[in-house]
Amino acid sequence: MEELCHFINGKRVKGTSGRFADVYNPATGEVQARVPLASQQELDAAVADAAKAQVKWGATNPQRRARVMMEFVRLLNRDMDKLAEKLSSEHGKTFPDAKGDVQRGLEVIEFCIGAPHFMKGEFSDGAGPGIDMYSMRQPLGVAAGITPFNFPAMIPMWKMGPALSAGNAFILKPSERDPSVPLMLAELLQEAGLPDGVLQVVNGDKEAVDAILDNETIQAVGFVGSTPIAEYIYGRGCSNGKRVQCFGGAKNHMIVMPDADMDQAADALVGAGYGAAGERCMAISVAVPVGEKTADRLIEKLVPRIEKLKVGPYTAGDDVDYGPVVTAAAKEKILGLVESGVKQGAELVVDGRGFKLQGYESGFFVGPHLFDRVTPEMDIYRQEIFGPVLCQVRADSYDDALNLVMDNEYGNGTAIFTRDGDTARDFASRINVGMVGVNVPIPVPLAYHTFGGWKKSGFGDLNQHGPDAFRFYTRTKTVTSRWPSGLKEGGEFHFKQMD
Ligand code: NAD
Repeated sequence: MEELCHFINGKRVKGTSGRFADVYNPATGEVQARVPLASQQELDAAVADAAKAQVKWGATNPQRRARVMMEFVRLLNRDMDKLAEKLSSEHGKTFPDAKGDVQRGLEVIEFCIGAPHFMKGEFSDGAGPGIDMYSMRQPLGVAAGITPFNFPAMIPMWKMGPALSAGNAFILKPSERDPSVPLMLAELLQEAGLPDGVLQVVNGDKEAVDAILDNETIQAVGFVGSTPIAEYIYGRGCSNGKRVQCFGGAKNHMIVMPDADMDQAADALVGAGYGAAGERCMAISVAVPVGEKTADRLIEKLVPRIEKLKVGPYTAGDDVDYGPVVTAAAKEKILGLVESGVKQGAELVVDGRGFKLQGYESGFFVGPHLFDRVTPEMDIYRQEIFGPVLCQVRADSYDDALNLVMDNEYGNGTAIFTRDGDTARDFASRINVGMVGVNVPIPVPLAYHTFGGWKKSGFGDLNQHGPDAFRFYTRTKTVTSRWPSGLKEGGEFHFKQMD
């Protein structure tokens, strides 16, 4: 069995804490590796070295830092298949999905090549007699990122790309469930020219996370994961005086209006509800058809499509629609919620319970499920299932559908399917959710816009990637300068003269 490492000061380094976590192949259920779980001492030592390495990196001109990102993009493309293969084997998602995971991270790295532009400050010439005023963006020093299992390439790149290109050193604490790809990314960055120590990948669990939150050198923490952990990290990080942004869980609704193209809506729901086994924070988990007739038509269209879905291991090729979920515990939680849905009176229209895949009986596969007549009090509506389970909540009117989404505690993504521009515009303008799709089920913004949810899906002021990322990983300093020749011309300086 492979023993994984940390990546410290440019090298793979064995863990010294004596604690490990198992890394599974979710398709077979076998343990394929173990990953060391760092102690506070290991984390603190990595941070101390990162702080030393940051001094030179932060003083390197932004163009040179951008060139490292440019080379990183080339290497990511070169190793795309290798990265995707490893990603699929630890996460379970299909090979095309795994390539998409790397690709969406890579696009943020491409955006980071423009870092010199985002690092530019502002200048006011002659703000007073002989006085110039200018502001500059400076790196924070050492920043950290704590990332989830479901996008082990994309989310680490969303965090480290902007942080590093802005001149920070970065501590990445990836998910302990699929830690290999982040280590490979660190090696590629080193090959691309990143100096040793500037990026430290420290594997671990709560102990390493708490060490990050309590470490006085770390200035900023970016987190992505479930809402309870997001709240915990936000609270502890902020009370320790750090800049913190946390992106949490989701319950994304898709409203289907009576005038929607029903085939298009059904295709969208199947892709967005069951793709990646529902393990996406932007997955649609709730369909909200408006009117009984729309609901009946939607069910009619959905059932045959869902029954045709092919569930299998990534090794079965492009034919597979989705793979296993990440762990046996995840599978158990999903099936437990399905049972609760049945008990609480929802109608299980497609029943994936008892799904078994020949030759992969120990794998963590979950068959597709579709519930109709779900109500907001049920656990399957209230909790994030994070599995291949779509719930249909019937709404009597557009306003009822809108209010359902407004009242939900999560606010990551949402969508409306309609042919009516007025309705779509009203929805996009009034809804209290961070990312909205109009006839687009998974409205993930591209790298040059920003990504972030509202309500219990996001904590902190700034979003991920796009210009916000550079604001998050830098701080502004404003300089007011006065030179003697100005004094001669304007006489003695008084602040009043600047009004
Ligand atoms: P998770 O919250 O279990 O873990 C996320 C990270 O937190 C991991 O690195 C993990 O090691 C660490 N962690 C776990 N328990 C901890 C604890 N008690 N104390 C301190 N740290 C702890 O999330 P996950 O299961 O890896 O990922 C799935 C979740 O992430 C879902 O809720 C999903 O919606 C969410 N997610 C959100 C976004 C977004 O942008 N909003 C994107 C992707 C995933």
